[in-house]
Amino acid sequence: TTDADALRRSAAAHLWPHFSRLSSVVAGELPVIVRGEGAYVWDARGHKVLDGLAGLFVVQAGHGRGELAEAAAKQAEQLAFFPVWAHAHPAAIELAERLANLTPGDLDRVFFTSGGGEAVESAWKLAKQYYKLVGKPLKHKVISRSIAYHGTTQGALAITGIPALKQMFEPLVPGAFRVPNTNIYRAPEHGDDPVAFGRWAADQIAVAIEAEGPDTVAAVFLEPVQNAGGCFPPPPGYFQRVREICDAYDVLLVSDEVICGFGRTGAMFGAQRYGYQPDIITCAKGLTSGYAPLGAMIVSDRLVEPFLRDTTMFAHGYTFGGHPVSAAVGLANLDIFAREDLVGHVARNAPAFRATLERLLDLPIVGDVRGDGYFYGIELVKDKTTKESFTAAESERLLRGFLSGALYDAGLYCRADDRGDPVIQLSPPLICDQTHFDEIESILRSVLTEAWARI
Ligand code: PLP
Repeated sequence: TTDADALRRSAAAHLWPHFSRLSSVVAGELPVIVRGEGAYVWDARGHKVLDGLAGLFVVQAGHGRGELAEAAAKQAEQLAFFPVWAHAHPAAIELAERLANLTPGDLDRVFFTSGGGEAVESAWKLAKQYYKLVGKPLKHKVISRSIAYHGTTQGALAITGIPALKQMFEPLVPGAFRVPNTNIYRAPEHGDDPVAFGRWAADQIAVAIEAEGPDTVAAVFLEPVQNAGGCFPPPPGYFQRVREICDAYDVLLVSDEVICGFGRTGAMFGAQRYGYQPDIITCAKGLTSGYAPLGAMIVSDRLVEPFLRDTTMFAHGYTFGGHPVSAAVGLANLDIFAREDLVGHVARNAPAFRATLERLLDLPIVGDVRGDGYFYGIELVKDKTTKESFTAAESERLLRGFLSGALYDAGLYCRADDRGDPVIQLSPPLICDQTHFDEIESILRSVLTEAWARI
């Protein structure tokens, strides 16, 4: 406890945690996590918590994997750093080949970054340069979905569709436009017909391309399952229709798999789960299970073709993109995926996870349970029959004032998000099984019951 207090005091004085209210940090409310094992982490006070969010949609293989630490140490001893910048090293080469083999279709070329936002930035820049090289220089705009999160650098933030994150940084990179997401629970049309709703939502992309001018639109950025706003899986046929639209208008389909990549939905990539072929996959997070930072943009042969011409280059890069230690960890992580069949494990257990979470639908505060694989959102409502939402003030009191702290104290780390309506997000490590599902359900049940009593 003395250590815990000293750490909190030091953090209060000097640390600036991301997306955190500094007032809470200064008040000493910051949990300090010191150790992890399997699906659990422990804080500096010795409190054990089930990691219901895999850190931040990251720790696919679970905590405390000695072999990933060993892979990092071995690579650091042999060659700690050399850039993938006019040079290469074996770990990056081998990982690029492995990724090209794991991704669908002709996504054969891998450009490494340090994280997800950089992969998204890279994809927008690549789309712009590609269209310049093939003689369509006006194509520079991008389309994404309402409330989707794609990163925080100024290009990625322009693509991000969460107004509250953007307003204070305007003007951002111009040319990013929004279409509706696939929140069928609050669908403006066709809420009772997933196929019609999916068709309508996909067609909004065509409407936006027509409105902006087809000659000016370069790419559409979509997550297989949209995270922010509350976990929106694609309705049946949605991505097939999006693909048709992208082909008809010559617009690139970027599958942002920073969360959905590496098994989250029960397939290696979300594009495989939902049966569509993207032109680019962006990924990060689960690529190393978080044991070292790494992201990647994986690109189709067609986009690479103009860059094969003599003297043409993609003039873009990051010092740490494809860092040797991260790449070595990525390889060891993919070894775990293969040896333990983590993706198959998720696919086999996903129905049980869904069924366990759906038991919570008998609580008056739970309006909707939605998601896929090991990736769920639980939407909280004031009135289940009318789907009446909590007001912003009620939502603030409920989520920040009570739920975040109460869930953590009860032994569950997850996220209570209010980018749209209040949603509890779950994305546990892929090693989890029924024991963990039951624990998650029982903590949620008792804490949500208390939350309802307090309203
Ligand atoms: N894209 C998606 C879909 C994400 O969820 C995130 C991060 O959560 C990003 C991009 C940005 O990734 P990073 O935080 O590694 O820059």
